[in-house]
Amino acid sequence: MLTRKHNRFETSVIHEGYDAKDMLGSLSTPLFQTSTYTFTSAEQGERRFAGEEDGYIYSRLGNPTVTVLEERIAALENGERGLAFGSGMAAVSATLIALTKSGDHILCSSGLYGCTFGLLTMMKEKYHIDHNFSAMESKEAIKKLIRPETACIYVETPINPTMKLIDLKMVADVAKEYDIPVVVDNTFSSPYLQQPLELGCDVVIHSATKYIGGHGDVIAGLVVGKKDFLDSVAMTTQKDIGGIISPFDAWLLLRGLKTLPIRMDRHCDNAEQIAKKLKEHPNVTSLFYPGDETNSGYEIGQKQMKRGGGVISFEIAGKKEDAQKLLNKLSFLKIAVSLGDAETLIEHPATMTHAVVPEESRLEMGITDQLIRLSVGLEAREDIWADLKQALDQL
Ligand SMILES: *Cc1c(COP(=O)(O)O)cnc(C)c1O
Repeated sequence: MLTRKHNRFETSVIHEGYDAKDMLGSLSTPLFQTSTYTFTSAEQGERRFAGEEDGYIYSRLGNPTVTVLEERIAALENGERGLAFGSGMAAVSATLIALTKSGDHILCSSGLYGCTFGLLTMMKEKYHIDHNFSAMESKEAIKKLIRPETACIYVETPINPTMKLIDLKMVADVAKEYDIPVVVDNTFSSPYLQQPLELGCDVVIHSATKYIGGHGDVIAGLVVGKKDFLDSVAMTTQKDIGGIISPFDAWLLLRGLKTLPIRMDRHCDNAEQIAKKLKEHPNVTSLFYPGDETNSGYEIGQKQMKRGGGVISFEIAGKKEDAQKLLNKLSFLKIAVSLGDAETLIEHPATMTHAVVPEESRLEMGITDQLIRLSVGLEAREDIWADLKQALDQL
C-alpha cells in the first residue's frame, strides 16, 4: 500500500505522491524529460534488471514524474496502485488484453465509448474474445449473460453519450458471486464525483484527456486497482505493448489535477442550470442528465455520484440536418469531440464519436440522429445559455 498522507480529496489532488525534500525543494514536480538513466557501474545495472535494487532503468519502465502521477491517482481512487498511459484507449486496451485470452468472454454495459466498441470488435474478430451487452438493470439480467468463460465485466456509467446509469455496487455484488473482476471506465465522473473501487469494483480506467487534464492540451489514460493486477499490467501489456505516457504529459496532468475539485463543482453548477433551461426549450424533445430528477437513473446517481457531472445529452425535434444546423448556428461554443475542458464543447455522436458503431447497434444504444452531446464548460452560464438559446430558436 502507498502511504496516504493527505486523506481529504482536495488536499490529495495537490500533495499526494510528491515530497519536495526529495527534489531539491522544488515546489512544482520536476519534469524528468529523459529516456534513460545512467548506472554507476555494470553491477548496478545488473542489480536493477534483476529487481534486486530499486531505481529507474528506462522511461518505458518508469519515470519519476510519471510515478508521482501514478501515486496521486491511486490515492484519489483509493486503489493500491495506479498506472499512466499515452491515451485513454492505451489504458483500456492494456487492461482488457491483460484480463483476457482467446476463447474468453467480456460482458459490457450497453453503450460504450466508440473506440472501446471498436477494440472489442477487433478482439472478437482476430482473437476470438467474445462480448455482449447488457443494460445491467438487475442482478438477474446480469446473471443470465454470465458464461463460464466470462473473464471480466466492463462498465461505463454514466454511459457515453446517453447518460444512462448503472448501479455499480449491484454489479460488483453479482460479480463477486462468480469471482469475475469488474472494470469501470470512470471518465465522465472523474474520481471527484464517483469512486468505483469504494463500491466494490476492481479496476478503474480514466481517459485523463477529459476532466483530469481539464485544459484540452493532453491525451492520456490512467488505470487504478489492486497492486498484484497492476504489477502484472506494468510488466506485460504496458511494458511490451508500450502505450506509455510522456513525462511532459504526466506533468500537465499533475498540474490539471490540482484544480479538479473546484473545476468539477463549477462544471456541475453550470450543467445543472443549463439542463433546466434546455428542458424548458420548445425545440428540445428529451434531456439526459444524471443530475435531473426525471432522468431514469436519477436514484442510482444519488447513491453513487456526488453530483450530476458536466455532460448533458439532449434530442431536438427534426432530423440529422437539424442537429447539424444547431451546431452550425452557435457563435462561441465550440464544435468538437472530447469533454471536460474549460471551453463548452458540443458534438453530434451519430456522425462523430459513434460513427464507427453500425447503425443498428447505435440505435439500440439510444444514439439517434437527433441526439446532441454537450460538455458544459467553465464559462459564465448566462453566456453559454445565450448562445445555445439563439441557435435553438433558429430551428
Ligand atoms: C475519450 C474517452 C475514452 C478514450 O480516451 P482517449 O484519451 O481519447 O484515448 C475512453 N472512454 C471514454 C468514456 C472517453 O470519453
